[in-house]
Amino acid sequence: MPLYAYGCAACGNEDDAFRTVEQRHDGPFCCGERMSLEIRPSYVQGDLQGYVSPVNGKWVEGRTARRDDLARTHSRPWEGMENEKREADRQRKYAEDKSEKRLDEAARRAYHQLSPAQRRTLE
Ligand SMILES: [Zn+2]
Repeated sequence: MPLYAYGCAACGNEDDAFRTVEQRHDGPFCCGERMSLEIRPSYVQGDLQGYVSPVNGKWVEGRTARRDDLARTHSRPWEGMENEKREADRQRKYAEDKSEKRLDEAARRAYHQLSPAQRRTLE
C-alpha cells in the first residue's frame, strides 16, 4: 500500500498515511475535515537504525544486513506476543494433523496387507 502525504487546509498540519490507490483521497481527519492529498517530492524511507542481534550479539545495520541476519540465524521479526502465540498454535495444529494423517495411512496400509481371514477376526 503506498504512503501518501496529506495537508490540512485549516491549520497547515501535515501527515502521511498508507492508503490503497483507490482510497488515496480519503485523507486522515484534522480540524474536523479530511486532510487533502498533497504532491510532495517522493518520500524516501530512511534506513534502519543499527542494533545488536539478540541471537548472536553481532552488530546489524540497515535493512540488507537485517534481512541477512534473520536468514542466517533462522529467525523472523518479533510480531508481538499475541501473534507469536497464534503462530505457535497454528504450527502445533499442523503437526498434529500431519501426525494423525500419517497414523491413519499406516493403519489403512496394515489393514490392506492382512489376509481376508485376518481381516474377519478384526471385524
Ligand atoms: Zn488541521
